[in-house]
Amino acid sequence: MNDILPGESSRWEWLEDKVRTLMARYAYRNIRTPIVEPTALFVRGLGEVTDIVEKEMYSFEDRLNGEQLTLRPECTAGVVRATVEHSMLYDGGKRLYYMGPMFRHERPQRGRYRQFHQIGAEALGFPGAEIDAEMILLADALWKEIGLTDVRLEINSLGQPEERKAHRAALIAYLEQNASQLDEEARRRLYTNPLRILDTKNPAMQALVEGAPRLVDYLGEASLAHFNAVKAILDANGVAWRFNPRLVRGMDYYNLTVFEFITDRLGSQGTICGGGRYDYLIEQIGGKPSPAVGWALGVERVLELLKEQGLDSPVPVPDVYAIIPEASALPIAIKTLQQLRALGVRAQMHSPTGAADGMGSMKSQFKKADASAAAFALVFGADELLRGTVLVKALRDGSGQQVEQSLQDVASWAGHLQSQR
Ligand code: ATP
Ligand code: MG
Repeated sequence: MNDILPGESSRWEWLEDKVRTLMARYAYRNIRTPIVEPTALFVRGLGEVTDIVEKEMYSFEDRLNGEQLTLRPECTAGVVRATVEHSMLYDGGKRLYYMGPMFRHERPQRGRYRQFHQIGAEALGFPGAEIDAEMILLADALWKEIGLTDVRLEINSLGQPEERKAHRAALIAYLEQNASQLDEEARRRLYTNPLRILDTKNPAMQALVEGAPRLVDYLGEASLAHFNAVKAILDANGVAWRFNPRLVRGMDYYNLTVFEFITDRLGSQGTICGGGRYDYLIEQIGGKPSPAVGWALGVERVLELLKEQGLDSPVPVPDVYAIIPEASALPIAIKTLQQLRALGVRAQMHSPTGAADGMGSMKSQFKKADASAAAFALVFGADELLRGTVLVKALRDGSGQQVEQSLQDVASWAGHLQSQR
């Protein structure tokens, strides 16, 4: 679990701003659900035989009433619970997005943390392939918006439960024939959740997985038509995809379209975003049967990839740094800064640190002004104040220009202070 300090958090805020703007363009609205949910929600929603439920959840008992609770390992289950609890689908489908921390007890390594952050989008109540495509286009637009390249899209279809049943029998038979190659986890899951075995991270089992019967070969006409419709929209919009028949995703709730955005530049933690359709989850959680589709991206991995590409985000800096030679000028200086801030200027006041005598020397105040990266210094000197003015000194454009400005009509020069952003 990481502290995110100011040097880093400006990147986070920059990404979050981009996401908010983009979500508005696609008409997705923000939803915020609790970090803690009843454990049963995840067991029922994600599936008992999944990595998350078997070994990654932070679960505990509420000391006051004995209720079993879990720190959310993902947010789809919580969003679905909320839509059911508040009957949000009574008047049609909803497009939602969220951002926030998730918790999984994994082995920490690059791109894999125990508290990590996801940004996710969910469209609930819409059955059509065009929504699956919209979801993928939305994620793809985000990569373009923030400048990410080197991301490829893999897609698959998991079909419908009936089709999975037929595939499951063939898959079990295949795995039984190759029982000697199964690791302990796979042997345990062979009859409870064989599809999960295809999601193994064990390199020794990759060849086995490669040769396994493909779900796509068991899909009926309707499922294939849905899959083809998604691909046609992606093609029409110039979004490149690769069909990966082994892509199954980590939770049991998916059906039909599943997808991942993957990069080769982050080592083995290369999946930056994953999602798919989950038409049976809402009913599973106690709601009226309704289709849905969604994705979640890993914020740490996306930011890491941006860094890997050498991309930096703008760091917010003050427009002005207020230099205050004598403490007696503080009331008028602060009043002026308040007026400027109300007009949108970013203003930092000089404040002595440590046991300094008074406000500190002009030299040390100018040094601080430089370090703040502000474009201008405002010098509240005694002579200027007597004239009802303040000295505005350019710090960064190389001109060293100084002008006196009147304290009577701050609004007339506030705009100029923002000109160097
Ligand atoms: P992985 O296969 O890497 O374990 P996952 O299938 O468990 O990923 P999802 O549950 O689909 O991942 O979560 C969506 C995204 O959240 C992932 O693609 C990844 O970018 C990010 N993510 C998942 N687990 C972690 C983690 N422990 N630390 C950081 N990011 C994570
Ligand atoms: Mg995982």
